[in-house]
Amino acid sequence: MNLTVVGLGLIGGSLAKDLRSKCIAKHIIGTDKNIDHCKKAQELGIIDSYLPLEEAVKDADLVIVSVPVNATLKVLPQVLDAISDKTVVMDVGSTKSEICKAVENHSKRSNYVANHPIAGTENSGPTAAIDGLFDKKTTIICEEEKSDPKAVLLIKVIHEAIGMHVIHMGAEEHDRHIAYVSHLSHVISYVLGKTVLEIEKDETNIFELAGSGFASTARLAKSSPEMWTPIFLQNKKSLLKSVDEYLKNLQDFRELIANNDADSLFTEIGKINDIRRVLEGLELKRAKGH
Ligand code: NAP
Repeated sequence: MNLTVVGLGLIGGSLAKDLRSKCIAKHIIGTDKNIDHCKKAQELGIIDSYLPLEEAVKDADLVIVSVPVNATLKVLPQVLDAISDKTVVMDVGSTKSEICKAVENHSKRSNYVANHPIAGTENSGPTAAIDGLFDKKTTIICEEEKSDPKAVLLIKVIHEAIGMHVIHMGAEEHDRHIAYVSHLSHVISYVLGKTVLEIEKDETNIFELAGSGFASTARLAKSSPEMWTPIFLQNKKSLLKSVDEYLKNLQDFRELIANNDADSLFTEIGKINDIRRVLEGLELKRAKGH
């Protein structure tokens, strides 16, 4: 098929690589507002050529929109305006409600499949694109009832071909759930990074003491502001609820430490260790291909 990727960064680039290696995409056209990313993506063999948006999408069988979620609100309707009746369009945005609302009354709404692959890294741009990023991961298709069943089937089949497990959800349900398991983790990581950076001003050697625990907890704080500012704002309602619940738990935890309440701390940490069962169960499920 002829594939066009709008936004040649980590996710768009990685999808292009996997879809080419599985022989699903024969010819791949890229388009990006950043000309250096277009050139780099071609040099890396991620795309065959690049064109301005409207020309890039007009003869495509499939268009993947992989730009930050605020840009998706503008780019997705432009793509739907420019495609043929047969072209299928999907996005990969980390939020779904506002994006779905932006095209709910578009005459080509049924050509579009709202999608969010739960896979990524803290890196961005075409050099961050990696092979096999999506293997044994999950992708979420939202509002499938608003898409042409053939378009949904295509999106399901290509994700399964690159090793993904496909699930379905409403857009608001997606945003509510993802606030807890993705967006809140980024907030916590940014705030941890900020707290330690501020202390570093007085304590020059603090980062020499940082071990792998700090590195893994602060990893997400390397993620770009271009990507995460609009995600936080688009998912504000659900995210604020999860942040408030987190703050309450943090305050309670603080009290146990302040009160030297060893028994309660011991019990509390023991209960939270149940996260090991949850995460290991998830790993096992993934290893078995769900
Ligand atoms: P990325 O690596 O920063 O790539 C985005 C690309 O889109 C960049 O080349 C960017 O150029 C370009 N771009 C920005 N605005 C544009 C516009 N209006 N028109 C055309 N190109 C534009 O980002 P990514 O991590 O691949 O994320 C892309 C999408 O995937 C986002 O919607 C994000 O929510 C979703 N997602 C991300 C992850 C993750 O872990 N990163 C996981 C799942 C889903 P500039 O760099 O010059 O701005």
